[in-house]
Amino acid sequence: MKRVILFGAPGAGKGTQADIIEEKYSYIKISTGDLIRAEVGAKTQLGLQMKSIMEKGELVPDEIIIEILKNRLMEKDIEEANGYITDGYPRTRHQAEELSRMPVHSEVAIYLDIVDENVVVRRLLSRLTCTDPECGAIFNLEENPPKQAGKCDDCNSPLKQRADDNEETIRNRISVYKEQTRPVIDYYREKGCLHEIDASASIEDIFEQITRIVV
Ligand code: AMP
Repeated sequence: MKRVILFGAPGAGKGTQADIIEEKYSYIKISTGDLIRAEVGAKTQLGLQMKSIMEKGELVPDEIIIEILKNRLMEKDIEEANGYITDGYPRTRHQAEELSRMPVHSEVAIYLDIVDENVVVRRLLSRLTCTDPECGAIFNLEENPPKQAGKCDDCNSPLKQRADDNEETIRNRISVYKEQTRPVIDYYREKGCLHEIDASASIEDIFEQITRIVV
C-alpha cells in the first residue's frame, strides 16, 4: 500500500491532480473536503455544524476530521487498492502525525505551493465543480473549461460554483492555510518524504512532475 499526500495552498490544484492520479494509477482519491460536503449534503447534525465552518473558510476541528478520515480508510475499497492519495489532508501538524500512525509500505508528501496570492484567488473564482457527488469533477473556466458550458464532461450533470469559492472566504482560507497548514511542510521535511512543486505551472506540467515522484 502506497500513500501519496497532496497538500498545499487553496487553489493550488490538489483536487485536479488527485483526479488525474486516480485515473492513471488506480489509486483511490480521498478528499476530506468531498467527505465533508457529502455529510453537509446529507444534512446530518455533524454536517450542519461543518457547513458553517466551511463557509467561513475555517478548518473543521482536528478530532472531527481525523475521525472522518479514519472511517474512510477502514472501507473495503482502500484495503484492496494499490494505494491512496489524500487531497486536502493533512491541514495541521496534528493531522499529519495522526496519518503517520496508519501504516503503509511507502509514502510521499507532495507540497503544491503558489507564491502569488492573486493567482489563487483568480483560479478559485473561475472554478466549477460537478453537482453529482459521485463524480465531483473539477473544471476551471480559464485553465480547464468544460466542453459544453455548465455541463460536466464526465457525467453531463450541471456544474456549480462552490459556496466557499467567493473572494472573502478565499482570502480567509489563504490566511488559515498560512497559519495552520504551512507547519505541515516542516513535518514532512523532517520525515524525509517531502517533494515541493510550484503550482502556478500548467495542469500538464504539474502532473508530469508528480509522475516522476509517484512512479
Ligand atoms: P477543500 O475541498 O479541500 O478545499 O476543503 C474545503 C473546506 O473543507 C476547507 O476550507 C475546510 O473548511 C474543510 N476541510 C477540508 N479538509 C480539511 C482538513 N483536512 N482539516 C480541516 N478542515 C478541512
